[in-house]
Amino acid sequence: MSDKKIIADLLPEMVGKTPGEIVSIARERLGHRMMMTTAFGYSGIVLLSFVKDAYPEIPCYFIDTGFHFEESLKLYQKINLEWGLNIKVIRSMRSEENLLNELGQEGYKDNPDLCCYYRKVEPLMEIMKSDSVWLSAMRRDQSSTRAETQPLGFDGRGQIKVNPLYNWTKEQCWTYIRKYNLPYNPLHDQFYPSIGCHPCTRPVDEGGEERSGRWAGSEKIECGLHLPEQGEKPRGAL
Ligand code: SF4
Repeated sequence: MSDKKIIADLLPEMVGKTPGEIVSIARERLGHRMMMTTAFGYSGIVLLSFVKDAYPEIPCYFIDTGFHFEESLKLYQKINLEWGLNIKVIRSMRSEENLLNELGQEGYKDNPDLCCYYRKVEPLMEIMKSDSVWLSAMRRDQSSTRAETQPLGFDGRGQIKVNPLYNWTKEQCWTYIRKYNLPYNPLHDQFYPSIGCHPCTRPVDEGGEERSGRWAGSEKIECGLHLPEQGEKPRGAL
């Protein structure tokens, strides 16, 4: 069956379902093709909790950019030890020396698109198979770029993406985390609603858009993994 037909069949089944039900439908119908990525933000923790209950064998990729906060790495270690998931750490296949040569000492400042491409997008593309189905914790209320998120669709590369939390709000996620006493990144309690690499993540004022602390002061609000349209490689990419 073509991927277009799969989406036409499964999308109406998934719309309006709970995250747990969407994960179960995805597992049953697309099981052998599924994979997940996470940086252990609070939405990712909620999704991992559903995955832990229904689908613990799915490969969950954590992209180690070399710039994660200490708090994020500690949370990864805790969940990796305690939750029995199939978490795999991936990194750029380029050496740090090569990355510094290509990007400069402050590449995250001078050319963040290229830095994200080399440190995040490229390593994921290396391991992602052409028929992979991507389980993601994207939600509509995270940013204007995510406002149209559906429970199932194609990503900018034409791969199927499943978004079980698509219509969950920030409040629903936190209620779930508190109800089940799930661990979370302590930076969330210090006004970091969205947590990426430390050079590119800032706290957000009360009421600010969730992802506005990412690449603050620039127009960039996505690293490139989740852009709806994937253009050419960023400027300067080899
Ligand atoms: Fe580089 Fe910043 Fe992107 Fe991390 S978030 S890969 S440091 S530009």
